[in-house]
Amino acid sequence: MRWWISLILSIILIVLIIPALIIKGFSPVDTVNNSPASRGDQQGDNINITRQASEPDVAMYDHIAKKVVMLALEDYVVGAVAAEMPASFELEALKAQAVAARTLAIKKMRAFGGRGCENHPQADVCSMFSHCQAWISDQQMKKNWKENYQANYEKIKKAVEETRGYIITYRNDPIEVFYHSTSNGRTADAGEVFSTSLPYYGVVNSPGEEDSPRYRQTFTFSNQEFVRIFKKRYPKSNLNASNLASQIRIKSYTESGRVKEVIVGGVTVKGTDFRFLYGLNSTDFKFRFEKDSVKIDTTGYGHGVGMSQVGANHMAKQGHTYVDILKHYYKGIEVEKHR
Ligand SMILES: [Zn+2]
Repeated sequence: MRWWISLILSIILIVLIIPALIIKGFSPVDTVNNSPASRGDQQGDNINITRQASEPDVAMYDHIAKKVVMLALEDYVVGAVAAEMPASFELEALKAQAVAARTLAIKKMRAFGGRGCENHPQADVCSMFSHCQAWISDQQMKKNWKENYQANYEKIKKAVEETRGYIITYRNDPIEVFYHSTSNGRTADAGEVFSTSLPYYGVVNSPGEEDSPRYRQTFTFSNQEFVRIFKKRYPKSNLNASNLASQIRIKSYTESGRVKEVIVGGVTVKGTDFRFLYGLNSTDFKFRFEKDSVKIDTTGYGHGVGMSQVGANHMAKQGHTYVDILKHYYKGIEVEKHR
């Protein structure tokens, strides 16, 4: 009698228990998240979207740790979304951000034929917001979010998982993706800001930007300070601190209403160069001359090209999906799974 009992037990084991363990192992439902204490405070402890064998890892130069780290692509996207967009934004805006962040990574990854990060030849991307794309570790998320950490993490992970593998393509190629915080109400064409024009960029209306605390800001410089900064960069300029109003003039504007060129002390300077020289929020700026100082009022935050994050959040609040958002800011594109 005993041989068939053990046979039945073996069949139960094979048919029921082993598949259950396998399914559990690959389940997107994350059990580790519910027991953070067991994972301690090690780096990467909440970063656990399941790897897929077909997806190559991202070699990321972490500018905080000062080394290259290997990350599963989808885990990299979680850290990039967490760094690049407030977690308080609508889910569909976070999903649009996830697709944009993933597109940037895939475009650069050598495994997909990209050139990698130009500043860090051993890496596909770096974590510098001013170069490739910002990225933060799980530890940094905990520091930034404190008691909201778990809720924010789950929300961003959801945005990444619901768009898993999706990127923005133009004629079957991942696009060269640009996005920014806040526009001046209209986005800038790529050609206004960068040396090359790209077919999927253009000027589009971007309502709702006034929701952003960075929509309008004023930068104040004493007359002497303004002149000192300018002459350090342009020593041949004849700019002097008396009567600045008579020496500064905006020469031309771009199609999106940003400053194209400004004349300062006889020197013509590109709006983009002027912005970086004075650390301004955007190239949509105006001057106000006072007795001893010059005030520069800016509208928008960032270069203005591609998706505005605040505009994306506004669209999401009005019921648009992440695909609607991406198709609004990038022209003639598709949102599809990468190959
Ligand atoms: Zn880089």
